[in-house]
Amino acid sequence: MSTFSAPKGTYDLLPPDSATVLAVREALAAPLRRAGYGYIETPVFEDVALFSRGVGESTDIVSKEMYAFTTRGGDELALRPEGTASVLRAALQANLHRTGNLPVKLWYSGSQYRYERPQKGRYRQFWQVGAEAIGAEDPALDAELIILADDAYRSLGLRNFRILLNSLGDRQCRPVYRAALQEFLRGLELDEDTVRRAELNPLRVLDDKRASVQAQLVGAPMLADYLCEDCKAYHEQVRELLTAAGVGFEDDPKLVRGLDYYTRTTFEFVHDGLGSQSAVGGGGRYDGLSEMIGGPALPSVGWALGVDRTLLALEAEGVVREPAPSSDVFAVPLGEQARKVLFGAVTGLRREGVSADLAYGGKGLKAAMKAADRSGARFALVAGERDLAEGLVQLKDLTSGDQTPVALDALVATLKEKLK
Ligand code: AMP
Repeated sequence: MSTFSAPKGTYDLLPPDSATVLAVREALAAPLRRAGYGYIETPVFEDVALFSRGVGESTDIVSKEMYAFTTRGGDELALRPEGTASVLRAALQANLHRTGNLPVKLWYSGSQYRYERPQKGRYRQFWQVGAEAIGAEDPALDAELIILADDAYRSLGLRNFRILLNSLGDRQCRPVYRAALQEFLRGLELDEDTVRRAELNPLRVLDDKRASVQAQLVGAPMLADYLCEDCKAYHEQVRELLTAAGVGFEDDPKLVRGLDYYTRTTFEFVHDGLGSQSAVGGGGRYDGLSEMIGGPALPSVGWALGVDRTLLALEAEGVVREPAPSSDVFAVPLGEQARKVLFGAVTGLRREGVSADLAYGGKGLKAAMKAADRSGARFALVAGERDLAEGLVQLKDLTSGDQTPVALDALVATLKEKLK
């Protein structure tokens, strides 16, 4: 133990779990690559106003959870709490929407920061793989993203998740609904916080997890009844495309999600084995966000999948991941001369694409062989002075225990053959 430990709400990713995390990120991204999404990286911090304007002042993410700070130079920055605003900012800054085809399709993988109350599945630094399709209004694009996320989860072996789907309307019909809901909420006995939320962001009240609040919401006006004809038709097409692709979903008229920028299609992937932090991913359409951050009208849609929670979901379902690949070969040098020769052999093997490791630290034979066993390697490479004098090394199959002498200069070829 050192004097220090990882800050509250964060954790270290260590082998062998870290290998699974890499595999999960890769699996979540693979369907995106096949669908024409290009990789993007943006800074971990941005102008704080990008988030307060983009994500919304009234959201918990911005009002309570942001890691905001003033730099020595006086800039007001924040660690990114989510990826969409940054990706859109970067696309606008680089004029991707003018120079390329629309939609501009991008994907990212990175850490996000929210000052939340930590618990299992909820951290202050967590990882997302995300995708954004910028600059097109087409129900097929919304459906594409949902299908790609579904494919990604399935490719990992996850089965016990559900897709919740809703439409939040657009700038024509949503304000009418918002007013109706506000009117309804004003007639309820709500606590101070909720009253404030009802004024700032009434749709969020629908999302309240407390049973007492949910009981009061019985009879609240539902957004589905207020959708304009365009939104209804759009949503119907998304639903049809999902059904045609064999992707099941549940209509959830109360799904609003925590960010202000969503319009029309909104969805969440929930996993039934995760307890209260059940959302493994989510997203939706955000037709107004570009204008909110000073860009042109660019209707867009995207999602973010939580890597940490995907891992927990895999655990909950007992999906066994491939063990972390270990070295194929582990070298055990006996004596100083052998150290030099085997170090050279290991370097040569690695350069030829064979994964190899060495017993470092001047271990004796017994400890070095134990290290070889523990490493999970298939072969040990043992050499002492006498072998080397004859230009040989001993190749020991660690599974069968068989040992054969191999000429040093035939080592690479022999191992490549055996490892085929
Ligand atoms: P959101 O941006 O809130 O829609 O989050 C998208 C996904 O990121 C969620 O479905 C979670 O899987 C994940 N996520 C969000 N917040 C956290 C957190 N504090 N800790 C771990 N994962 C999170």
